[in-house]
Amino acid sequence: MSMATEIVQLLVQSAGTWLFEGTRSDLSDREWMALRFLALANRLSRTPTALAGFLGTTRGGASQITAALQEKGLVVRKPSADDKRSITLCLTAEGEKFLKQDPINALRDQIVALEGSDRSRLRDTLRRVLVGLDVAERRHHTDVCNQCVFLVENGEGKDRHFKCRLFRKSIAPTETSQLCTYFEGRS
Ligand code: SF4
Repeated sequence: MSMATEIVQLLVQSAGTWLFEGTRSDLSDREWMALRFLALANRLSRTPTALAGFLGTTRGGASQITAALQEKGLVVRKPSADDKRSITLCLTAEGEKFLKQDPINALRDQIVALEGSDRSRLRDTLRRVLVGLDVAERRHHTDVCNQCVFLVENGEGKDRHFKCRLFRKSIAPTETSQLCTYFEGRS
């Protein structure tokens, strides 16, 4: 077996923490994926359309998943602060608490236990692999805002501020480390 095949096998086996049959803590793997995404996404990506893009499903499919999460009291729909005609999906306090039971936390804890340099290498290597897949599949993967070609930083110190050139909106400093479905890499 080549090293590349061995690595693919290891990745496939680690996927068992987030891809599973049935439910865990009463949520399907898709519902967990949606809840996790909404907890990590910036405000521009906490929409039904962006969620559908992240899950690789239709808007109808994403709506069903959102409805299930709303019924369990984990997510609420709020009018967007940027555009009152749009909806922002937000985790409730119960949703935030529920994430402590996320089955993917077992994988996160193993990564936290790695040496810091191994962790950075793993992150950068996986990102390079995803960028390569994006080129092959003509798509952009979801990633953190501060790596995006559309993010512009102006000013210094207290006057430092960020702007998204795609949406022409201000981005809060805390949002620059959050996920965005509309992300486009710099390379
Ligand atoms: S700068 Fe890029 S990642 Fe950030 S909000 Fe805009 S499109 Fe999304």
